[in-house]
Amino acid sequence: MWRTIRISLLLLTLLAVAFGAWFDQHHTTRWEHTVWVGVFPINADGSPAAARYLDELRAQDFAPIGAFIAREAQRYGVSLGEPVNVRLYAPLRTAPPLLHPRAAALTRMFWSLQLRHYRWQALRGIRRSRPQIALFVLYHDPARSAVLPHSLGLQRGLMGVVHVFAARPQDDQNAVVIAHELLHTFGATDKYSADDDAPLFPTGYAEPDRQPRYPQRYAELMAGRIPLSPTTQLMPDDLGQVRIGPASAREIGWSAR
Ligand SMILES: [Zn+2]
Repeated sequence: MWRTIRISLLLLTLLAVAFGAWFDQHHTTRWEHTVWVGVFPINADGSPAAARYLDELRAQDFAPIGAFIAREAQRYGVSLGEPVNVRLYAPLRTAPPLLHPRAAALTRMFWSLQLRHYRWQALRGIRRSRPQIALFVLYHDPARSAVLPHSLGLQRGLMGVVHVFAARPQDDQNAVVIAHELLHTFGATDKYSADDDAPLFPTGYAEPDRQPRYPQRYAELMAGRIPLSPTTQLMPDDLGQVRIGPASAREIGWSAR
């Protein structure tokens, strides 16, 4: 009896989640209306440095991301003037649930449900202009951690968990990382090699048809680096050196498949 009820409840939840995900994905990739994106900063390590950084964080710090998406959308003929509006919300006290990189499938499923619950909790108190996509941005004191956990962006779930450094000189590169995870939430996939992080050709190139092919002028957002030669790549300094390539544009519904 209980077993049947439990399984039915679980199935109902999964159905609701699946339907909700389909509905939201459909609405955030039609590009007929501005998509509202909420940035929720979190002090990742409880450090005074990150606390100070969060205090000084302003909405305009995220303006380059909205401007970048608008500029790129225009190149692909999207007529919407403001495809995304990035808003800054008050910092959250608790961090999203973390996943161990070698977690088993069942743990991963449970974590994904926990993450959806975390998003629901973060958004439920917002009465007006609730964002459609939530980016949880965890700020780390660079003096405490030289290497950051992996960031992620989920299209099913419409959220990203982004790890960045709490340091002003890092702001421009943080914007690149945040924009990358944001594009995942629209359905774009990674375009770099899992072995050596090199951009994949042709999908990870901003200008795959450029002659001569090297050096490339820009990094493709989902590849993350500027290919200078078949074996050397450069990290972009800011979103000015980044483009959304044709393959990513197709994935997010900016150009015909
Ligand atoms: Zn990625």
